[in-house]
Amino acid sequence: MSFFAFAALAARQGLVPHEYEPQPLRPQDVEIEISHCGICHSDLHLIDNDWSSSVYPLVPGHEIVGTVVAAGDECATRVGQRVGVGWQRSACWKCEQCLSGRENLCPRQEATCVGHMGGFARRIRIDSRFAFPLPPALNPAAAAPLLCAGVTVFAPLRRWGVRPGSRVGVIGIGGLGSLALRFLSAMGCEATAFTSSPDKREAALDLGAKATASSINAHEIRAFDGRFEFLLSTVLARLDWITYLQTLKPNGVLCFVGAPPGLLQIPAVQLLSSQRVICGSNIGSPEAIRDTLAFAAEHGIGAQVETAPMIEVNAALQRVRENRVRYRMVLTN
Ligand code: NAP
Ligand code: ZN
Repeated sequence: MSFFAFAALAARQGLVPHEYEPQPLRPQDVEIEISHCGICHSDLHLIDNDWSSSVYPLVPGHEIVGTVVAAGDECATRVGQRVGVGWQRSACWKCEQCLSGRENLCPRQEATCVGHMGGFARRIRIDSRFAFPLPPALNPAAAAPLLCAGVTVFAPLRRWGVRPGSRVGVIGIGGLGSLALRFLSAMGCEATAFTSSPDKREAALDLGAKATASSINAHEIRAFDGRFEFLLSTVLARLDWITYLQTLKPNGVLCFVGAPPGLLQIPAVQLLSSQRVICGSNIGSPEAIRDTLAFAAEHGIGAQVETAPMIEVNAALQRVRENRVRYRMVLTN
């Protein structure tokens, strides 16, 4: 039996139809018939081998929604259950991080589509501990991006104690940033959207922002000096971080979830004088994913999506590359 997928055969190449033999179904595995898969910008980084970790043929896709069609003997998940799968496909379950519920920091973890075949496919087999039952209230297309983009922005907001009334800046309003605005609005926070796309300024207000500004015009950014408790950067470009740091209150936090290239160059005095913090955040643990899904279901939150049939994957990837998607592209089978 082989699985049908779309794969890049080399860096920066278009995807082509690809069939592969799945791993045998282990007692802890489920087999999922995929109905939807979001396109995260990390899929483009992987296709292009930006992180020098890509293994070809590479089947991208790690915002997967589908239905369990087979389950090993040790699975709590049953056939027929609708589930979602994100970036992570395994952990050692034994190390200090795993034993503290931080499986997303396990040094032996594996990613769904690095060295394994991801979700731009009809089916996938995966450890059931990384296949999360979807609350029935969630629409499958809008829920798929919650599995990566959603938890990646939700987890640091919770970890850093963002609460009702917090003033938060979100830099970059793509897949991650648009979901951050929706979560912040539901949490009762006052969010400001920083964007380089003029048309998104109005749209960001509909996504829950209270104010918007250019993400690339230092003059506009300076208008927010000393305003934010928390800044979440989702961009993959180098921006004027020194000016952004000035927008933080004392003890404020600048958290990177997007991965800009090159080095961050920050004068230490800018951190110590107001005790500002710079940090990063990596996807989310299984518990954080369950929390994200439950919060989204309770508050009626999903991604604003464009959908395209899986067969049109290359055109869909190109729209993501050109920053034309509003706000997450989801492929459908
Ligand atoms: P995306 O949908 O393409 O959105 C990225 C946004 O960044 C764009 O919509 C754009 O927002 C902004 N941007 C892009 N180029 C820019 C430029 N040259 N100057 C200024 N702004 C620019 O991407 P995504 O899926 O949200 O992913 C964003 C980043 O997060 C990627 O690097 C991805 O690999 C990373 N990521 C990290 C984790 C993690 O665990 N930490 C998880 C998932 C993804 P505007 O149009 O509003 O300017
Ligand atoms: Zn992702």
